[in-house]
Amino acid sequence: MIPPIASNFVAGETPEAAMDHVDDINDRGVDGILNLLGEHYDERANADADADAYIDLVHDLADRNTDACISIKPSQIGLSISDDAFEENLARIVDAADCFVWIDMEDHPTTDVTLDAFERHARETEGNVGVCIQANLKRTRDDLERLADLPGKVRLVKGAYDEPNDIAYKNKARVDEAYEEYLTYMFEAFDDGIAVGSHDPQMIDLATELHDEHGTPFEIQMLMGVREQAQFELAAEDYDVYQYIPYGNKWFSYFYRRIRERKGNALFALRAIIGR
Ligand code: FAD
Repeated sequence: MIPPIASNFVAGETPEAAMDHVDDINDRGVDGILNLLGEHYDERANADADADAYIDLVHDLADRNTDACISIKPSQIGLSISDDAFEENLARIVDAADCFVWIDMEDHPTTDVTLDAFERHARETEGNVGVCIQANLKRTRDDLERLADLPGKVRLVKGAYDEPNDIAYKNKARVDEAYEEYLTYMFEAFDDGIAVGSHDPQMIDLATELHDEHGTPFEIQMLMGVREQAQFELAAEDYDVYQYIPYGNKWFSYFYRRIRERKGNALFALRAIIGR
């Protein structure tokens, strides 16, 4: 069972718990993006099993009439094993899904194969898939130019992986500057399909300004347990807000990452432990 302090960031161990959480946030105007926790599998059976779990999930979503999409890590469905394993499992999931399918972006050796898979499915499904793109990578401006003319959605994030100096901006202020530059480009070059994957008020304010200037629609995506009050307030102001909702039995390392990345989260956990 997930301890109460972790359940702030993880919806539960089962798909039912995750779908119940979606129902709760739907009531407050926020949509759900479900992510089964798991990554870096080096055995095909594990990758196939998680792909099967996603297929069961998309069927359950349709049966329950739960309005949510899914987001998948490439290394969870086979990319650490082979490009073919990843592509076969991704195709099985996309074929099974009535709902929108997001592809998360992992570390830089996976960028090309992930974008190629996105492009293929974006064309085949006429835009029922999305891909994440990272502002800390210097290549991202070129990738955005390629993505601008494709159907589907693009989620811009700052980037969660520790990448080498020659290909990535390492300084936080420089990453923020790149995020602003890339977001501005997206509003200029994209007709739609822009997702702002950030908790940063500065980036969300910029997106609203760019939307006012260009009229291009956009959505805001944040993680479960992070600035949730802001998520509900933005939804009440009629912005399209999505919450990324992890679930599953591999919750510990995800929860630990959330606690480590921010002093406020660590204090929150400490208060929960000492009961104050
Ligand atoms: P930060 O620079 O971390 O924070 C900026 C400001 O945001 C802070 O100063 C504060 O004002 C506010 N803030 C941030 N966290 C908190 C908090 N806990 N409480 C209160 N205020 C806070 N990365 C990938 O590499 N690949 C992916 O596929 C991917 N998918 C993602 C999907 C979603 C929906 C989101 C939200 C993030 C995803 N990320 C992904 C992670 C991303 O790359 C960043 O590491 C992460 O979002 C932190 O960056 P940030 O933009 O939120 O801003």
